[in-house]
Amino acid sequence: MVEVRNVHKRFGDLEVLKGIDLTVNRGKIISIIGPSGSGKSTLLRSVNHLEVIDEGIILLDGVQVNRPDMKGLAFERHINNIRQNMGMVFQHFNLFPHLSTIDNVTLAPRKLKGMDNKTARDLGMEQLERVGLAEKADVFPNWLSGGQKQRVAIARALAMKPKVMLFDEATSALDPELVEEVNLVMRSLADEQMTMLIVTHEMGFARDVSDWALFMDGGVVVEECTPDKLFSNPDQERTRNFLQKHL
Ligand code: ADP
Ligand code: MG
Repeated sequence: MVEVRNVHKRFGDLEVLKGIDLTVNRGKIISIIGPSGSGKSTLLRSVNHLEVIDEGIILLDGVQVNRPDMKGLAFERHINNIRQNMGMVFQHFNLFPHLSTIDNVTLAPRKLKGMDNKTARDLGMEQLERVGLAEKADVFPNWLSGGQKQRVAIARALAMKPKVMLFDEATSALDPELVEEVNLVMRSLADEQMTMLIVTHEMGFARDVSDWALFMDGGVVVEECTPDKLFSNPDQERTRNFLQKHL
């Protein structure tokens, strides 16, 4: 579903991604762990083309995301199509404060897919039910807890019926007691065979939920294997050092 091949990304003189390869098969869940500054967010943002990579190829369901050969309006159309198929959830929820919960969820389907209000509302309610927040449909984000806001952000991403969901530290801005409700929603997506690429600092959750785990450091994938192996018996010294500090 997602294929990342030899991806390089520089910010000026600083090479942040140094040849990343990554495959996420349909229905699988891959977790990425690693120290702060190792390039995890840049990698996720590159998959979505929020960062323009300098070298390499990114494919979504066989379609090349980055298209250095394409310019202007044609590329914009191309990337908008691609982005409709990728749901992204960030650390900070970025809900629109002036829109109710349901309007936050249905905005993209209405604007980007031209969905009529009734169909959009039905779809939106369905997504809110998926994250357990149907009763908050007409509430504004300021009235929600951080965990509820993040669940709305997930519902909003799901409303576009994405082929893959990208999570960048979705729970790291939350108070500890609110983490579990978001993790539960992510687990339920896993049960529905949603394809997911998850950057997380929650080792227990990563170990539990993922099919495959990567340890990144310094812009490279240091090690990748099953989560059980990564978290209990990693091959690389750098992985062991990191886990000693974070488990
Ligand atoms: P992580 O998510 O693993 O903490 P990031 O991908 O956010 O790491 O950052 C990797 C490196 O790239 C860091 O050194 C960071 O300072 C740098 N970086 C990220 N975004 C930018 C940017 N827009 N401009 C310059 N440097 C950046
Ligand atoms: Mg990050």
